[in-house]
Amino acid sequence: MWKYPLYDLSFGKKEIESVESVMKSGWVSMGEITQKFEHKFAEFLNVKHAIALSNCTAALHLALLSLDIGEHDEVICPSLTFVAGANAIGYCGASPVFADIESLQDLCISPDDIEKNITDKTKAIQVMHYAGYPCNMDKILQIAQQHNLAVIEDCAHAPGAEYRGKKCGTIGDVGCFSFFSNKNLTTGEGGMITTNDDILAEKIRLMRSHGMTSLSWDRVKGHSFSYDVTERGFNYRIDEMRSAIGIVQLEKLNLNNKKRETLVNAYKTILSKNDNVLIPFIQNPEVSSYHIFPILLSEDICRNQFMEYLKKQGVQTSIHYPPIHLFEYYYNTVRALCHLPVTENVAKREVTLPLYPGMKLESVEYVCRMIYQFFQES
Ligand SMILES: *Cc1c(COP(=O)(O)O)cnc(C)c1O
Repeated sequence: MWKYPLYDLSFGKKEIESVESVMKSGWVSMGEITQKFEHKFAEFLNVKHAIALSNCTAALHLALLSLDIGEHDEVICPSLTFVAGANAIGYCGASPVFADIESLQDLCISPDDIEKNITDKTKAIQVMHYAGYPCNMDKILQIAQQHNLAVIEDCAHAPGAEYRGKKCGTIGDVGCFSFFSNKNLTTGEGGMITTNDDILAEKIRLMRSHGMTSLSWDRVKGHSFSYDVTERGFNYRIDEMRSAIGIVQLEKLNLNNKKRETLVNAYKTILSKNDNVLIPFIQNPEVSSYHIFPILLSEDICRNQFMEYLKKQGVQTSIHYPPIHLFEYYYNTVRALCHLPVTENVAKREVTLPLYPGMKLESVEYVCRMIYQFFQES
């Protein structure tokens, strides 16, 4: 429908063949293929445990539960992220406490503002590597250590991103990944938890499947006849079709991220010459996964007009994000506690431009040309 869509899938013949082969194998719920996907994902990140799940929201939920986050606890997180981040904290009976982002250049959570929001109820910091650019993890880990807080990394944007030589998702206590359709690696719906902590991994594996001590896969393989339930767990499992897609998508991830990087660099080169556009993360010393390409419009530009204009030219755009603390549900409960001037400023001005591995350089040039044209005409 869109001539220049916001994102596009990177599925090929291999994904289709791998799903077909699973369907013909006679075993489609979690089993051997999922184990292989987990093993390969752990190897890719250089992390001890990778646990595949139904989605990233489930991953965030189990990450928090495994860290014993519960009622009366507070978790500090950004408001400029997808609402799943705050919802998952609520599932545990805990409260999200929103910290501001660093600046118009760095849309990740601000370590200084994290520190300002710490109370004696704070149990964890949940960071989000915005657009695939790593947060300031050195400072965040230092704060966490000083105050004895756990660190959860929402890596939905960041598969393959690196901070000081370490892959995102291996820096804090737990990393949470999404394989939703618009993400860098997709299985339709899907997610992954990563951790180097054996005890957390064991808790997460149990809670993924009802708290049962053995899986139907083990019973089919003759490893056990019955099971006990040691926790009130969930059904957050993935299935073999998705894991099969994930294995193929993981093989493509590095190359796809490189393609994204080339496109982002082209965007940055062309648009940095335009005074009406500010480009966050223009200097980036770390390795990004370039999940999305956000720009900020000058304050005097009407964003709706800008997005409408691009729509007429066939260019799909989006906003990342309407901030969580201004949604009705959160506004009514937490608004009084929030002072997030940078988040609110960015949320008013941000526009996300099309970006996906199969996008042509000429398409980037077209989108930029239309942006220049808009400013000339307005
Ligand atoms: C996509 C996304 C999620 C949710 O992932 P699901 O797999 O859809 O549950 C969480 N956080 C961020 C930052 C995301 O972009």
